[in-house]
Amino acid sequence: MAELSLPDAPDAPEVPSAATDGVWLRCIDCGHDHPPFDAVRYTCGECDGLLEVRYATHPTFDEFEGSGVWRYAAALPFDSGVTLPEGDTPLHRVPRLEESVGVRNLRVKHEGMNPTGSFKDRGMTVGVRVAREVGVDRLACASTGNTSAALAAYGARGGLETLVLLPQGKVAAGKIAQASLHGARILEVDGNFDDCLDIVRELTDRGEAYLLNSLNPFRLEGQKTIGLEILEEFYADEGRFPDRIVLPVGNAGNTAALYKCFRELVRGGDLAPGDVPKLTGVQAEGAAPMVEAVESGADGVERWDDVETVATAIRIGNPVNAPKALPGIRETGGTAVAVSDEEITDAQRELAGEGVGVEPASAASVAGLRKLRESGVVDSGEDVVCLTTGHLLKDPDAAADAGADPEPVPDSTDAVLAHLAGRDVGGLLGRLRRLF
Ligand SMILES: *Cc1c(COP(=O)(O)O)cnc(C)c1O
Ligand SMILES: [Zn+2]
Repeated sequence: MAELSLPDAPDAPEVPSAATDGVWLRCIDCGHDHPPFDAVRYTCGECDGLLEVRYATHPTFDEFEGSGVWRYAAALPFDSGVTLPEGDTPLHRVPRLEESVGVRNLRVKHEGMNPTGSFKDRGMTVGVRVAREVGVDRLACASTGNTSAALAAYGARGGLETLVLLPQGKVAAGKIAQASLHGARILEVDGNFDDCLDIVRELTDRGEAYLLNSLNPFRLEGQKTIGLEILEEFYADEGRFPDRIVLPVGNAGNTAALYKCFRELVRGGDLAPGDVPKLTGVQAEGAAPMVEAVESGADGVERWDDVETVATAIRIGNPVNAPKALPGIRETGGTAVAVSDEEITDAQRELAGEGVGVEPASAASVAGLRKLRESGVVDSGEDVVCLTTGHLLKDPDAAADAGADPEPVPDSTDAVLAHLAGRDVGGLLGRLRRLF
């Protein structure tokens, strides 16, 4: 089992004077502490490092009550947020897939079942609450699609204006439709996601809007609850925690959030360091800077300027949360792997064959698990949870391409029967031919 490194003393942390109600922001680079809500702040004012939300106390499972994200209020900066409500997503059993992949237990945590169809909702319920706390009236994000759909919906719910920047021609239809109907102003940038984020960061630095990309440390607090739900539910079913959590990686916000969830549970005493699940990230071959960094052992990631994949939600070349996520993968004994678009589409079909409808990026987790199982990195005795991040209907074009084509038939029952019979005969002949 991985030895979990705990950079701070495991006993009660010293609460800095910057804290408000036991909550503060700490720079992961220089260690400087900042007040949490006194000003709009995304990175460290001293060194521009990433910020992390810190707490005077760490949660234990017996403190949680209610359902959804706010069940975990004891682990969050507030008791409530702008809610639709989110979280409480299914942890599916997928017996056929479990057998074909060849692990002891395979579960699928389907985050596509959140209100706007992706896990981004968990971050937004907390993030939009913070926006109200600091008193801004306009929200903004760069997005490969799902962040914009979630921000538009939560902005609308909270009565705030929203502005989203998207890479032109690279966002799945369902996501644009959501952002549009929920009333966001949509700007299509002639560039990729990373270019959009560069612009939004400058806009928000100039005070034009409040940034709700996963660079915003409060979003990751909401997303931490994915880990809490997985651990609670898996434990309730199996009497132990899963060995490994496999997830698609774009900006690596979820990877960072899960790692933070585990660290806080370890500090709270409910999770033994040896029981921390191995964080295993999956990227598309055409956008795999994190995999490159994990494989080379580098301290940071090198930005990829040209990225391409059918999994548009993870078509990202400059994962902003890498400094938080790389230690998470390493310290938990996990790994990262890249999969081809074909492997992603195959996994999307396999999940659909179990009734679980996901968008391409989500299927990357299952494709990555299969690959790591085949190469022997994942053992057949492992209990594994794959995260599926977004719903099938997010990208109807990719789903239609991956699925079977509709068959035109004449307008008569006899013709339909003949068509079905013909097809069945054809299928049978094919099977016989393969046998003999
Ligand atoms: C945002 C998103 C991801 C990437 O998550 P990160 O936290 O940025 O790594 C993966 N899949 C889907 C469907 C997403 O919307
Ligand atoms: Zn700093």
